[in-house]
Amino acid sequence: MDLFEYAKQVKEKRILDNNLDKEKKSIIQEPLWKNPSYEFVNSLEELKQIALECKKCKLCLTRKNVVFGEGNPEANLMFIGEGPGKTEDETGRPFVGRAGELLTRIIENGLKISRKTVYIANVVKCRPTVEMKGEKDRPPDQDEVEACSPYLIRQIELIQPKIIITLGNPATKFLLKTREGITKIRGNIYQYNDIPVIPTYHPSFVLRNGGENSPLKKEVWGDMKLVIKLMQDLGIKN
Ligand code: SF4
Repeated sequence: MDLFEYAKQVKEKRILDNNLDKEKKSIIQEPLWKNPSYEFVNSLEELKQIALECKKCKLCLTRKNVVFGEGNPEANLMFIGEGPGKTEDETGRPFVGRAGELLTRIIENGLKISRKTVYIANVVKCRPTVEMKGEKDRPPDQDEVEACSPYLIRQIELIQPKIIITLGNPATKFLLKTREGITKIRGNIYQYNDIPVIPTYHPSFVLRNGGENSPLKKEVWGDMKLVIKLMQDLGIKN
């Protein structure tokens, strides 16, 4: 079959993408972000390049930058939040606004490790805002979490962290497949694909509800004690 006929048949969805040789693939291939999962990607950088082009959900319409995640690709600890805010959207980096500063203090003063040694990501990589106006942040919608989660799943598979700390409801509910809210669920250790998961409050939630001296901050500190104990039990130094 010549290439022209071949491409025509693929367009008509009569041929499954099974036995393509590389040359044919390069001509007819759809954008990589359209894939439902990214098992074929073998590095975080490659995955990031795919995500930077992504238009899989409506958040691509209002984002300034895709906030893929950052940190040590071989991190023992991985922190997962819900989605980028204003400063993150502007800079393309996760947790760099006020909430990010609090997270950095939690990591560096609480856990006594450098932020550079951990990996930080979000469930959705583009900023969700109320009514798509680009003003007030909101938690991601379910369809946005579903569209974006394959990136996070592959990030976890590539990094293989020894401990995951989820920050707030969307990340916790997604990883633990629970409907329970963070207030009820925090304070314990759970599992995601044999990786221990410790849920705690999102730093933004702490800042909105009393900040550094609030009871919430004390509960976060309690959760970090759990992390420290688990790190000791697993022989993790950073
Ligand atoms: S939020 Fe995720 S799925 Fe949606 S456009 Fe951004 S990268 Fe793609």
